[in-house]
Amino acid sequence: MRIKVLGCSGGVGPGLRTTSLLVNDELLIDAGTGVGDLSLAQMSRVTDVLLTHSHLDHVCGLAFMADNLFDLIDRPLRVHGTAATIKALRDHLFNWVIWPDFSQLPDAEHPLITFHQIEPGTPLKLCGLGVTAFEVLHTVPAVGYAIDSGEGVFVFSGDTYACERLWNTLNAMPRLDRLMIEVAFPDEEAALGELSRHFTPALLGAELKKLRHRPKVLLTHHKPGAERAIEQECVAALAGWDYSHLKRGDIILS
Ligand SMILES: [Zn+2]
Ligand SMILES: [Zn+2]
Repeated sequence: MRIKVLGCSGGVGPGLRTTSLLVNDELLIDAGTGVGDLSLAQMSRVTDVLLTHSHLDHVCGLAFMADNLFDLIDRPLRVHGTAATIKALRDHLFNWVIWPDFSQLPDAEHPLITFHQIEPGTPLKLCGLGVTAFEVLHTVPAVGYAIDSGEGVFVFSGDTYACERLWNTLNAMPRLDRLMIEVAFPDEEAALGELSRHFTPALLGAELKKLRHRPKVLLTHHKPGAERAIEQECVAALAGWDYSHLKRGDIILS
């Protein structure tokens, strides 16, 4: 499995894109502003999109992608998310006010987008990969994903704060090779992290002690401007872990 990091920042700025991962050229995990770097040909190769939650930095690229693909694909783009995430997209994004409802265009029989509800804990097969969603703790209903290629297991936390069910889920998995997990704020913004349900380095380091696996840890979703502080704080907070700070364009093989 080849995962290209299209975006992994907690915001926008020169060279920064928000969360989106391209898996084997056909599956997107989240559709933040990183989607905007795909060519039309690359976009039209994507068959499925897995969403972690409804926040704009994870879904805004889907709106523009749907518009771009309007004349280019002759089958629907399948968008997978929990019932709450799909409802949020229908009510607040593809609602004819913020953006057209591409699940009804060009007509209801031949929609550009179809929505598919996922159930956390229930494995499904997608693009030849084993995919299991698991609930995390954020300000809106949110999930992470475990992706099993047959050769390795890659887990993406999505946006989350400390919660027992995250570690219980990961510890129950037979293997975990790579854990991509968010750490959005530096320690001095721990109060904001708690309020907005995002990790800080010290909290992540403390929580990782609950993990029985020793995966390679891939850190993501740093707030623009806070990257240096987060990197410095992780040196102590994640001492002993094999970890790296993801950058746009990185390739993860798993
Ligand atoms: Zn979020
Ligand atoms: Zn986010």
